[in-house]
Amino acid sequence: MAKDSDKPRVKIIRPRIPKFCICPFCNTKQRFKKIKEHWKIVKEIDLEKPILFKVQIIYAKCLNPGCERASFSLPIKGISKYQRATARLIKEAIASNILDNTPPERIKRRFARSFNVTGSRRTLDRWKHKEADKLNFKGLIEKLKPSGVLCLDDLDPGRSTYKHLITSDRIKGYILYVDALPNQSEEEVVKYLVTLKELGIDEVNCFIVDMWKSFPQAIHEVYPKAKIQYDYFHIWEAINRHLDNAMKEYSRFLRGIQDHLSLLKGYGFTEGFF
Ligand SMILES: [Zn+2]
Repeated sequence: MAKDSDKPRVKIIRPRIPKFCICPFCNTKQRFKKIKEHWKIVKEIDLEKPILFKVQIIYAKCLNPGCERASFSLPIKGISKYQRATARLIKEAIASNILDNTPPERIKRRFARSFNVTGSRRTLDRWKHKEADKLNFKGLIEKLKPSGVLCLDDLDPGRSTYKHLITSDRIKGYILYVDALPNQSEEEVVKYLVTLKELGIDEVNCFIVDMWKSFPQAIHEVYPKAKIQYDYFHIWEAINRHLDNAMKEYSRFLRGIQDHLSLLKGYGFTEGFF
């Protein structure tokens, strides 16, 4: 039997009933008129003991006849309308996943154990995407201060028919930008690089690239001052492929000579003749 201490504590949260409220859809300030309410369970993080919030959601009627929405819920600090977890719990989950690089499965187990909540991978992804959408991309890149030595790598996700191109900072080790490209043409790579530039990555001394044929021209067009260095591993791969082909060619050639020799022997030429 579960001990009493394993059971989450339930805290009741109610919104303050205001005299006036503002409809978030039409921004009209108006007298508060309640039309309905319901309760929902929200997960909270607490190190001492698992806690669940029982939150009263109260809906106000929008009194503006021109508003397209009939009602709206009263805001409760730290708890948004569709959220099943508090802002603190979401922050903790995202920090574990991104800053500590904890895999989602482990976060899920830890959350289930410590906070009596489930944090499925899908939920965690949703939280992350929502949080990421709030960030300004340009501002982020500015903060990362790219070093000027960038890698362009392609990525071929099995579930996508598009090629993906990742730009990372070779010196600092950050991934800066990922986007999908319909093909490897110069035109598409130029578009990709122009986006990079628009995001504030305008000083690039060197691009380290793999062997897409379109890279040199595209880079030259958008970043005329940048040097191009081919990725060591891709060069090695290409050398090996050429060596391998040359060896095959040579052994075919040797086999050809052997065939000629036996043919000549058949015509009566002796070994000493050669
Ligand atoms: Zn309204």
